[in-house]
Amino acid sequence: MAVEGTAASMSSPPGGWPKPRSLYVHVPFCRHRCGYCNFSVIAGRDDLQDRFLKAVEVELDRIVGSGTVELDTLYFGGGTPTQLSPDRLEQLLQVIRQRVHLVDNAEVTCEANPEDVSDETIDVLVRNGVNRVSLGVQSFHDAKLQVLQRGHNREQAIAAIEQMCAAIGNVSIDLIFGAPVVDANSDSSADSESLDLWQSELAMAVSLPITHVSTYSLTYEKGTQFWSRRRAGELHEVPEDTDIAMYRACRRSLAGAGLEQYEISSFAKPSFRSRHNQAYWNGYGWYAIGPGAARFEGGVRSVNHRSPTTYLKQILEQGTAVAESEVISVQQHARELAAFGLRQIDGIDLTTLNQRVGFDFAAGVQSVIKEMRDSGLLVDRADWAQLTPRGLLLADFVEMKILELDDFS
Ligand code: SF4
Repeated sequence: MAVEGTAASMSSPPGGWPKPRSLYVHVPFCRHRCGYCNFSVIAGRDDLQDRFLKAVEVELDRIVGSGTVELDTLYFGGGTPTQLSPDRLEQLLQVIRQRVHLVDNAEVTCEANPEDVSDETIDVLVRNGVNRVSLGVQSFHDAKLQVLQRGHNREQAIAAIEQMCAAIGNVSIDLIFGAPVVDANSDSSADSESLDLWQSELAMAVSLPITHVSTYSLTYEKGTQFWSRRRAGELHEVPEDTDIAMYRACRRSLAGAGLEQYEISSFAKPSFRSRHNQAYWNGYGWYAIGPGAARFEGGVRSVNHRSPTTYLKQILEQGTAVAESEVISVQQHARELAAFGLRQIDGIDLTTLNQRVGFDFAAGVQSVIKEMRDSGLLVDRADWAQLTPRGLLLADFVEMKILELDDFS
């Protein structure tokens, strides 16, 4: 179907900007900071938990101020939401559920770390409608968990999964591959990562009653302890070919166990895809609360201050902690829909994308798509953009090519 609008003259897509139906709440507290972590996190300051709960109320007031907010998905991430004491976790869940309307089949996810899983925490989650848990397992191998500086061991990880599956049913786990190989001369002697070890982790994962896996190759973010230790020669990256072999092993093993890949890093049993993450990838708009939390509302993307203490100070004293804000043009929205939509294994229907944005984006992006098809990164399918298995390995490059496209009229 032809689309006749001109992007340059439009201030919003034809149906208007999508009204968010998802809310993300970032809980910044952690027991300690893991060496690879670059999230907005604060460790050893549980004394700030009450102030955080007040800040959440201030942000909620802004969100619901102008009317009823109806949500399909609600996600508590972090940080570690279960680092809140059980009574504060309950208070957080209740204050949100009292102010927003969750549809009947809403997906309510809470992240948790295995060492925090207790009968009391599970009771709070179940009592307050959490129907999906995302556990920060990362590994089932004790030496690797130590290298990653995690606070749990293999036994605790397995016990937490089993307990959560029995109580809540819908349990996702995070797994990291390509963890650093530690210099044999350093204090930590474990040579903790290899393809064999990773395959044994995958075998362990699929033997458990989980519904979803998110898996990532470890990245060394500037400013983290791992970044400095790698520069000092204390930590070594796994070779690139091993990293690729690990990704392929994970696609094979998880698919073999009925966990279908639906996004670059995400695998799910049928009907257990993360609806919340799909809202991000499909550009449906979302609210966000907490330090470092990024939202997309009414064609504006904004992000809160990353420092939890600055965030608390600003919210409680000024009522807002927005650090950056950007008005998104319809052209940029189209580029983002394409770039982030492509993360999903099914790819994107370019005709539908054209209709959503109200101009012929497919025509403007044609030369890039052709180049990617010729390079074997996108499948050769008319009116459709979809990564090939090779394209999955170079998804960041494809995403960047699309995001860097110039505006066209
Ligand atoms: S538990 Fe998670 S959020 Fe907290 S420091 Fe470790 S990696 Fe970061």
